[in-house]
Amino acid sequence: MRKLAFGYSTRCNLRCEHCVAADEAPDNRTMELNRAKQIIVDMARAGVSGISFSAGEPFLYFNEIAALVKVCSQLGIYTRVVTNGFWAATAASADTLISELKENGLCQLRLSCSRWHQKNVNQNNLVTAAHSCQKHGLDYFISFVTDFSSEDDLLESFLRSQGVLFFPEPVIYSGRANAFTRRNICTDYQANCCDMNPYLTPDLDMFACCDAGSHFSETNFFYLGNLNTTSLEHLFIKTETNRLYTLIRTMGITPIASFAGYKARQIITHGKCELCQKLFNSPETLKNLEKNLVRLEAWKR
Ligand code: SF4
Ligand code: SF4
Repeated sequence: MRKLAFGYSTRCNLRCEHCVAADEAPDNRTMELNRAKQIIVDMARAGVSGISFSAGEPFLYFNEIAALVKVCSQLGIYTRVVTNGFWAATAASADTLISELKENGLCQLRLSCSRWHQKNVNQNNLVTAAHSCQKHGLDYFISFVTDFSSEDDLLESFLRSQGVLFFPEPVIYSGRANAFTRRNICTDYQANCCDMNPYLTPDLDMFACCDAGSHFSETNFFYLGNLNTTSLEHLFIKTETNRLYTLIRTMGITPIASFAGYKARQIITHGKCELCQKLFNSPETLKNLEKNLVRLEAWKR
């Protein structure tokens, strides 16, 4: 199933300390609306069945995003909008926006939440937005980004006490969060397979990974190409046929790290994206993996 994170604009009204957006990148790049509509039509033709509007803050371009959601809905594409919820200060304002999105065919709203977001957005906004979704029959969930420190206990207890649907999610140590002190984690020795949804930027660059992967600047490992010069179909085929990407999806990051020489006790101290970065944003490690691809593909129990 082809899915994609659609970056209509990188502009955001916040500047969270944990944002994966790189500081040096211009932060207000925006797509041209008609071009965006045409790309969505092309995506439907290419068999894309799910689009997540993310990147900066989509509600800063509410009318445009609502129009794009409508195009998707008419083409039978599942849609999600990812937002920090700044617009839900009152039930009335939330209802106005949510009802319009629902009318235009939006399938799901994902509310981002964390102690960094909540320095600038009142946590009650999350509850107001969630209640508005429930009222209008719109599927939603809250993505509770955490570094698993006790500093997050209060926010997590708040979400629990409000009875809203929330799921913890690890902070990604990329972009601005790169400067964070790493927590000393020990996870289970698990495969860490990754779905790797592609990400389309406002400049029409496409990456094979929608999270930290667009910041692997040492190797550009996840960069697929640009829609101005390469067809959408060709870019999708690239992501679907790259043998290392296939191994990330099917074998998982952990066995690849073990194959590359990481000790098991080192592997369990890294989160998935961090480990991915160590492997694929290192020119030397990447070169070795590419050289030994046949042996790596046979690295199975
Ligand atoms: S984390 Fe989200 S809300 Fe915060 S600055 Fe980045 S895009 Fe904006
Ligand atoms: S594990 Fe790698 S491919 Fe998956 S989201 Fe993280 S950086 Fe992207």
